[in-house]
Amino acid sequence: MGGINGTTLERLREELRGPVIAPGDPDYDETRSIYNAMIDRRPAAFARCVDVADVRATIAFAQDTGVELAVRGGGHSGPGLCLVDDGLTLDLSPMDWVRVDPGAGIAQVGGGAQLGALDHAAHTFGLGLPSGIMSTTGVGGLTLGGGHGHLTRKYGLTIDSLLAADVVLADGTFVTASETNQPDLFWALRGGGGNFGVVTSFTFRLHAVHSVGVGLTVWPIDRIQEVLRWYREFLPAAPDDLNGFFALLTVPPGPPFPEPIHGQKMCAVVWCYTGDLEEGRLEEVLSVANDPAPPAFHFTAPMPYPGLQSMFDGLIPKGLQWYWRGAFFDSISDAAIDVHERYGNAMPTDSSTMHLYPVDGAAHRVGADDTAWAYRDAVWSAVIGGIDPDPDNADLIRQWCVDYSTDLNPHSMGGAYVNFLGAKEGTERVASTYRGHYDRLAAIKRTYDPENFFRANQNIPPATG
Ligand code: FAD
Repeated sequence: MGGINGTTLERLREELRGPVIAPGDPDYDETRSIYNAMIDRRPAAFARCVDVADVRATIAFAQDTGVELAVRGGGHSGPGLCLVDDGLTLDLSPMDWVRVDPGAGIAQVGGGAQLGALDHAAHTFGLGLPSGIMSTTGVGGLTLGGGHGHLTRKYGLTIDSLLAADVVLADGTFVTASETNQPDLFWALRGGGGNFGVVTSFTFRLHAVHSVGVGLTVWPIDRIQEVLRWYREFLPAAPDDLNGFFALLTVPPGPPFPEPIHGQKMCAVVWCYTGDLEEGRLEEVLSVANDPAPPAFHFTAPMPYPGLQSMFDGLIPKGLQWYWRGAFFDSISDAAIDVHERYGNAMPTDSSTMHLYPVDGAAHRVGADDTAWAYRDAVWSAVIGGIDPDPDNADLIRQWCVDYSTDLNPHSMGGAYVNFLGAKEGTERVASTYRGHYDRLAAIKRTYDPENFFRANQNIPPATG
């Protein structure tokens, strides 16, 4: 014990192949800046791990010195779980490698890789992984929470394609968890977040996907009642080839949007079609978007899958203020639509939004207890995001998000996707996210991390007694 000081830091520097970055180092401020600029924390050091040996040495160092450890994958967590004031961040971002075996149809991915690296490496073989909708999100945090995006209805959650994970446990032991090896740990990793160890490598089964049909339909916000009433019936009945997430937005001031709608509050569906892209077929499939109300804008185009995966990167770059909350829905009630209408009209800033991501289709065909993900009966995973570049608007976006979430929650299933939980929502909220799986997760936590060494996360304390 003794924490981090000049002497212990020097020891860590000697032990690692990767660099150790501490206050006073020229790249300290850049290293501690993460995607959400609302998070301004000052860790005592960053251990930038280049391999499993570095990960094991960093864990041993944190155990010896008693310094609190956080783990960083892609740095996209809304509540900034990868940074602890005066703590040590085990930074996996140098471990960003991807190896695709096209013959076997699998990919091995370093624990610090971003989605874009995997999409790029797999695409050349006509393969892809169902994951999230931004290329800069970390494979690590996204996968450990579950992972949903444009291919969820077709190929399931990201965890449904996970075959194995290399993990360094709290006592430094290295294990490869899979269905046949340490199956309890493998079960917990598929949805239980970063509670159980540091994943240094993920092995995924890939799927055939090359170009997809992309669509964006935008309606004026005053048609939200008709649009959501139509969407709640249409989407769950649609074939798995069609994914469409619902969004509230303020139309950005530039192409492809026509000038008259720039800056207007609207509602939208972002489509991804994995069916036949023969001439005219995509337009025909998405012509249904005229059914609820005349769109203000409707766009369709075939696109390489990595193109869709990075389509929003420029709209919400790193460095904005974020405050978010989530919720699961198995239906969208009239009362919920009223709440969406009220807060859609009151969006406080141009970047603020609410998304309803489908988590049905193939994701429903995995058994309710097969993974730690506890909402196989949910049809949508919602995120409410208060977002703005200006730190002076932090209170404004926070208040809108909290009020919206408070009014919406009574119409939800209870919990939220663990990766959309906000800061300090409390243990009850984490428990409601895992429902009937919580006790099993707490028991597995006791086996693999009895001292709750990995606690800078949406924490599941070890079971007692
Ligand atoms: P980090 O902040 O680095 O880590 C988050 C948590 O995961 C921490 O507790 C960390 O300790 C742990 N962790 C990360 N990597 C590892 C590892 N290798 N081993 C052990 N623990 C690890 N989610 C979706 O499912 N679908 C989406 O479409 C989607 N879109 C998003 C878009 C944006 C703009 C943002 C900001 C987030 C989005 N998310 C989405 C949520 C995202 O899944 C979570 O924020 C996730 O935690 C990010 O993982 P990360 O590795 O980038 O984050």
